[in-house]
Amino acid sequence: MDSKQIEQIIEDEGIEKYRAEQIRQAIFQEHASSFNGITTLKKDLRERLSEKYPLLSFELYRLFESSDKTTFKALLKLSDGKIIETVLMNPKPGHWTTCISSQVGCALACTFCATGTMGLLRNLRSEEITDQVLFWRQFIGERKIAERLNNVVYMGMGEPFQNTKNVFDSLDELMNPDTFHMGARHLSVSTAGIVKPIYQMADRFPQVNLALSLHIADDEKRTELMPINKAWPLAKLAEALTDYIEKTHRKVFIEYILLRDETDKRDNAKQLIKYLKTIKPTHLVHVNLIVYNETESSHKQTSKDHARWFKNYLEENGISATIRKNLGRDIDGACGQLVVQQENI
Ligand code: SF4
Repeated sequence: MDSKQIEQIIEDEGIEKYRAEQIRQAIFQEHASSFNGITTLKKDLRERLSEKYPLLSFELYRLFESSDKTTFKALLKLSDGKIIETVLMNPKPGHWTTCISSQVGCALACTFCATGTMGLLRNLRSEEITDQVLFWRQFIGERKIAERLNNVVYMGMGEPFQNTKNVFDSLDELMNPDTFHMGARHLSVSTAGIVKPIYQMADRFPQVNLALSLHIADDEKRTELMPINKAWPLAKLAEALTDYIEKTHRKVFIEYILLRDETDKRDNAKQLIKYLKTIKPTHLVHVNLIVYNETESSHKQTSKDHARWFKNYLEENGISATIRKNLGRDIDGACGQLVVQQENI
């Protein structure tokens, strides 16, 4: 459910216009899970709306909870029967982040990513993207596990910038003060490196966080890991990121996955430092190191000690870096592990 659909329902059902505000209030602030729960509407009206209009554009198919209760993963069944995954994480006390999908599957076939093995089945509509946020808000409200959902990251299934129109529409909706009312700085979009939308982001969403999944700073090896690099090589990405920083004065986040003996060697670190210094000003570049979550691919995980060495090496050379906390491994909800075998459902 989003602002446009509410307007449409008001018009189609001939409902008084002022009711739109009551409906928005109940859905987006009070987390009603159906029209039946909107007690400010008359009983016959809410029953009629409840029968015709579900609040979410999918059904919960399966829910997983990590053993340490910091991560939940939901499989959601869309109206055409396809399944997507969405994750809710609690990286620090009182702080909840959802990682949402923008496509069913993904066409980019990065070799370390389980989603890439699915191929692209279709793009998600804007409403199917924002409904994932609505779903987790309802979940948090029902379970009373927090006051609110703090952050949204577009790092689930799919490449957001291969579905740019719907992703941009969904950002507008998440920031809409009448509905989700989230601050731009609580939203992050991560791309594998499609250049044109990076320029568009700088103009249209300068306050939304931007992350680039870089993973190695060598064109030949990057093309092996991430075939999209052939179309948009490292030099083009550095130009786009420099433009983004110039226009927005915001930090850009570089996601870097540590694959044992592939991306985690001293030479890799040196290349990375050299490359990041071509993005200006470099102090607005921050590296998030990700310890690889092993899937069925041949890539292997770096040890924790080695990840710490890599981070220190970057910092000694003037690049700020953190090692990202890995949540949800036991439910395959961590980075790179999102995959749904559609034919098994
Ligand atoms: S890492 Fe992202 S862009 Fe690459 S295949 Fe996976 S979902 Fe697609």
